Amino acid sequence: MAEIVSKDMVASVHYTGTLPDSGDEFDSSIDREPLTFLVGHGQMIPGFEEEIMGAKVGEKREFTLTPERAYGARDEEAMMSIPRSQFAQLEESAKLEVGTQLVAQMPHGPAPFTITELDEENVTADFNHALAGKSLTFSVEVIELRSATSDEIAHGHAHGPEGHHHH
Ligand code: ZN
Repeated sequence: MAEIVSKDMVASVHYTGTLPDSGDEFDSSIDREPLTFLVGHGQMIPGFEEEIMGAKVGEKREFTLTPERAYGARDEEAMMSIPRSQFAQLEESAKLEVGTQLVAQMPHGPAPFTITELDEENVTADFNHALAGKSLTFSVEVIELRSATSDEIAHGHAHGPEGHHHH
């Protein structure tokens, strides 16, 4: 039986992601190695996996995901105003601008955010994923498929295209 994208397979894919409204490309693997992941273990955004289930090596699929099936809706509660003085040390070596992406050290771990406003007093930080609230179009080609090793299934992630990557 030919192998298809299904749970506990390791898939390597090339993909290009664009914003359906503008056509702008936000990410692509084309100039890199294919993206390798373990199918069915939450490594990918949910809609991405669902849309390529059943695909064979060499098959290409194009689909558009609503935000709910991609990075989720934007959460306006995830905006925070932080006194600019807290960035004083950072500003000695880096320039703060609208659009700058930084990582805050929070009690539960690192939290990336984007600066959406800044003035003399305050920095407005948006902790939403940059692609939250957006529909996303993906063009995907399946490059390789293999069964996952028992280690990979136990760890919940792929160990590279050959399954030999140790970490
Ligand atoms: Zn592992």
